[in-house]
Amino acid sequence: MTKTVLIVGAGPVGLTAATELARYGIPVRIVDKAPQRTDKSKALVLWSRTLELLDRGGGSAPFVDAGFKVHAVNVVARAGELMGRVTLDSVDGPYPYALMLPQSETERLLEERLLALGVTVERNVEVTSLTNSDTNVQAVLRHPDASEETVSADWLLGCDGAHSLVRSTVGTEFAGETMLSDWMLADIHMSGYPYPDTEVAVYWHRDGVFVIFPISPGRYRLIADLPMTSSERPPTPTMEKVQALVDQRGPKGMVVSDPIWLAGFRINGRKVSDYRSGRMFLLGDAAHIHSPAGGQGMNTGMQDAFNLAWKLAMVIKGTCGDKVLDSYSPERSKVGEQVLKDAGRLTAMGAAKNPLAQYARNIVSHFVLGIASVREKIADGMAEVAIGYPDSPLNGPALRGANGPKPGERVMPVSGQSFVGAGDAPRFALFAEPSQSVTDLLHRYDVLLDPELRSPLIAGGMTLVRPDGYVACSGKTAEDVANYLNGLR
Ligand SMILES: Cc1cc2nc3c(=O)[nH]c(=O)nc-3n(C[C@H](O)[C@H](O)[C@H](O)COP(=O)(O)OP(=O)(O)OC[C@H]3O[C@@H](n4cnc5c(N)ncnc54)[C@H](O)[C@@H]3O)c2cc1C
Repeated sequence: MTKTVLIVGAGPVGLTAATELARYGIPVRIVDKAPQRTDKSKALVLWSRTLELLDRGGGSAPFVDAGFKVHAVNVVARAGELMGRVTLDSVDGPYPYALMLPQSETERLLEERLLALGVTVERNVEVTSLTNSDTNVQAVLRHPDASEETVSADWLLGCDGAHSLVRSTVGTEFAGETMLSDWMLADIHMSGYPYPDTEVAVYWHRDGVFVIFPISPGRYRLIADLPMTSSERPPTPTMEKVQALVDQRGPKGMVVSDPIWLAGFRINGRKVSDYRSGRMFLLGDAAHIHSPAGGQGMNTGMQDAFNLAWKLAMVIKGTCGDKVLDSYSPERSKVGEQVLKDAGRLTAMGAAKNPLAQYARNIVSHFVLGIASVREKIADGMAEVAIGYPDSPLNGPALRGANGPKPGERVMPVSGQSFVGAGDAPRFALFAEPSQSVTDLLHRYDVLLDPELRSPLIAGGMTLVRPDGYVACSGKTAEDVANYLNGLR
């Protein structure tokens, strides 16, 4: 197998894609124009579903060990009144918490994983132009000594961030808008935080929203919206400004010190409609950007990579036909659309300025957040365990009348069983009672099926699960599963 994949961009998304492909034995080359990894904390949280998916590629333990667990989000309105408290304890799965880990650390751990797989990120190497043809992609790389190299790759992954060259080469519109306010971000130390360090606080003040995320004991990220300035870029806040905002919008007695990172930013909500153009794919910020509310940006991008990698690996290995790749864009575009909507709604709610709108928001939120099932739904949404692909073109038939996960739904990892999709080959997993026909099926499709048979998920039936842990189909007999697998070729 000599087919190669060129990955443009070694942010969290490019690194995730590279580690997944490399562990499946696919030759990858990953380049980044920046001379080194980011040292900024940017995306702070790894959500439960991302940790589950990281488990398949060597374990989430290094991430969990380096991170800090947060268990609840408090929403507080004017005068310190608690509107609601959403805990993450109800999230179904091995990670019922938000793992706070600065993006710089997430990238460091991913790069270490990649290095252990024998792939080095080529830094200071910029892709300056691209040509997409039916048979390959040609890319011009500019090296640190200004020399140019033209490379040919079978597939190209555009993980090159919000200002993506891959996206502009493809010519797809990055449709959306910029929110008309400035935002302040301050990663600082602080004393006097009235909640446990394992809980987030969101303050809905009449002048705007103010959010406190614990990063580690005594260290926090503060985010607030501010009136929009006329400058091209929002100003970087001073520590005096940060303290003034804390005094104005937060509870009494909090004192900030020792800044780690202060930044101003504006919020864009934009997305492409198609994540694929022939042999080029768009992933992460190259395909979708949105408000940091809900902390979904990086996680959504990493999950784009998890979704695409096994499909591409199977196509490159020749175990599946090219049509498997056609499911990438519809599956991930729908998820991206939902994330954009939810993050936009959350941001607008927090930043509402009209007193009547604020009044209505507080009344409704207080009521709604008082309902346990609503709080659980919000927690599942944040943790991304509710993501599924119910309309995927890859979904096969479901066993009629059976209770159990439907095609497109996530299958929760089961303790004591190895992770679906783990190892050095992308394989589907079969959940069924042992029988001769099941043994024959496992032998007949040994390239597509994991040899480990897992306990049934539905009584009297069998369930086939994709390498990323979502149900492909369910049926009564081994022939039902065989029919689905035959359709992949
Ligand atoms: C201030 C701030 C706060 C944020 N907070 C959060 C948060 O709380 N939660 C959250 O989920 N997200 C947050 N984000 C967003 C998060 O950082 C991004 O979603 C994430 O970095 C996207 O990863 P990516 O790999 O797609 O792109 P990037 O991280 O942007 O990586 C793209 C890489 O491509 C490289 N590149 C670009 N063009 C080329 C080229 N032509 N040739 C070679 N290399 C190229 C770049 O150098 C870069 O390293 C925040 C972002 C910012 C700026």
